[in-house]
Amino acid sequence: MTQLRTRFPELQEGVPLAPLTTMKIGGDARYFLTVTKREDLVDALRIAREEQIPVFFLGGGSNVLISSQGFAGLVIKNEMRAMRVEGNRIIAESGVILASVIKAAKDNGLVGLAPLHGVPGTFGAAVRGNCGVPQCETGDFVVSAVLLDKNLAYKTVDREYFGYSYRHSHLKESGEIVVEATIELLPGGDPKQIQEEMMIMLKSRKAKQPWGKSGGSFFKNPTREYSAGFLVDQVGGKGMRVGDALVSEMHANFFQNAGHATSEEMQSLASLIKQRVKEQFNIALEEEVEFIEARPSAKGHYRGAGGLVATDHGAVEYGGGYNFLEGVRFPPQCAVYLHGVLCWYPCRNTPSWDSIEQ
Ligand SMILES: Cc1cc2nc3c(=O)[nH]c(=O)nc-3n(C[C@H](O)[C@H](O)[C@H](O)COP(=O)(O)OP(=O)(O)OC[C@H]3O[C@@H](n4cnc5c(N)ncnc54)[C@H](O)[C@@H]3O)c2cc1C
Repeated sequence: MTQLRTRFPELQEGVPLAPLTTMKIGGDARYFLTVTKREDLVDALRIAREEQIPVFFLGGGSNVLISSQGFAGLVIKNEMRAMRVEGNRIIAESGVILASVIKAAKDNGLVGLAPLHGVPGTFGAAVRGNCGVPQCETGDFVVSAVLLDKNLAYKTVDREYFGYSYRHSHLKESGEIVVEATIELLPGGDPKQIQEEMMIMLKSRKAKQPWGKSGGSFFKNPTREYSAGFLVDQVGGKGMRVGDALVSEMHANFFQNAGHATSEEMQSLASLIKQRVKEQFNIALEEEVEFIEARPSAKGHYRGAGGLVATDHGAVEYGGGYNFLEGVRFPPQCAVYLHGVLCWYPCRNTPSWDSIEQ
């Protein structure tokens, strides 16, 4: 029996993940735990690491497409939600809903976040993914953050550490978890005026974006010249459908679950669109929404951060999610998921990184 159950009697099994995402797609989590305290997070990650259980760290589920096969590991739902305002700074734990941070800023007359009003999800995911709108990005306001690294050690980093760019930070590769972050805003704003700005943003969002089950923009904008929505529209994407996966008629970069769509249907639809855009514009669209595979898989088949497993015969990547397996040795066998298939390699035959890449 897993030690997770001993340490966390509230641990659940077979929890449906679809309701915890905005796309409403995803099978069951083998294990499921909600964390409200960072000590619990560290303990859960430590036990999962010792027992070689893959981990997926879930925020508000608004930027993920979870496999309809579920997740064969531990899903940790982030509900660490302490927040305080100090002068023109807001210090919030990563599980605080972004909307609550925006509201706290408004209530305290702190200017800057209003354009982000209406973006769902948690503060931590916004800090990690540099969530943004044309007017600003989350990274613009970050001063520092407390992260949890793969050795389960806390580290305090400044803004530079993130290496922010469009919808990206270095954390997407490192797999570090944002535990808490501090943002700095302009003081002296009028809460009423900020509220008005927020309402304008929401109105414009409602006018341009469809409501319903989606993950927001499906693809990243590939260039300044062409938005992903424009390209999808140009290749006749609007209204395209695979099963219940549908490209919105209102906004071509919104892929909707029009009923009971599966992750496979959503991925097939995305592949078709990508192929058309590649053929007609020679542009390779890249997903903004992250696909979470049911099982850890080899590099290239999962977009999230994976772990490097040091074996006697070189390093191989052990799948996606925050599996925190770095440094773990696998005598006498090594398990690797290749194309979703679990392969056991005797250590002497452990494939090299290069052979997995091919
Ligand atoms: C209707 C709609 C509109 C949207 N509009 C916008 C928009 O205007 N701009 C924009 O940028 N995005 C937009 N999004 C996308 C989404 O809201 C953001 O990407 C958001 O930041 C995701 O937060 P989340 O908590 O839901 O993350 P999740 O979907 O739960 O997780 C996303 C990824 O972040 C990782 N993660 C979550 N929390 C942490 C943490 N604390 N530390 C490290 N990794 C973490 C997860 O493991 C996962 O890999 C929209 C989505 C929807 C559904």
